[in-house]
Amino acid sequence: MNATSLPCILVVEDEPRLAKLLAVYLRDSGMTPVIVHDGLAALEAFAQHRPALVLLDLNLPGRDGVSVCRDLRAASTVPIVMMTARIDEIDRLIGLEAGADDYICKPYSPREVMARVKAQLRRVQWAQDGVPRNMPATSGPDGTGARVLDINITNWRVHLDGEPVDLTPAEVRLLHTLHAAPGRVFSRQQLLDHLHDDGRAVTDRVIDSHVRNLRRKLATVTQGIDPIRSVYGVGYSFEWPAAD
Ligand code: CA
Repeated sequence: MNATSLPCILVVEDEPRLAKLLAVYLRDSGMTPVIVHDGLAALEAFAQHRPALVLLDLNLPGRDGVSVCRDLRAASTVPIVMMTARIDEIDRLIGLEAGADDYICKPYSPREVMARVKAQLRRVQWAQDGVPRNMPATSGPDGTGARVLDINITNWRVHLDGEPVDLTPAEVRLLHTLHAAPGRVFSRQQLLDHLHDDGRAVTDRVIDSHVRNLRRKLATVTQGIDPIRSVYGVGYSFEWPAAD
């Protein structure tokens, strides 16, 4: 992907109305949609068009989204955003570790889908440019556009743009896990597993309480910008909000 070519987005969606709607929004956002309606056609279309990103429905005729996702992931690091009609499916999907980068629950707003698509494309662009992956889309306070989040998990010290942020060890671990994979959605259970490796029995609502405190403390340095995204019914991911 570069400034002169429109990124190609592969949409695998068997509901024609939804596929058309996504295509309209993708074109309006300056992207080129390629649409296929079943899982069998997805891999062939992927090989032919080499898209910059795949929007992949879970329930498809031919082959289901999880098996398509696994095959794509085995062949490529392309960002995959999986779409499902059931919020309770997302936990299961994350657990299956099929390799999707983000999850969207239907009914979705097309604007939300475009925001997620753009976030994934930015993530890939940063990785390709060799720019630190914690670089935000928004400008930093120094005007350079860079926010530098430095997390030291040996001494539990965290600095954001050089400013110390006073966090508890649990908050540091949580932030470290989320920040190490920007844009990736973690379920509460996954975050708990990273938090306590001794398998202690705690409710996953503990994560919500840690995130609440983490947000409050980060906000003192970020001027209110919240880099932790809540994914309704699922969990959390780390990403600096887009400027647009
Ligand atoms: Ca479907």
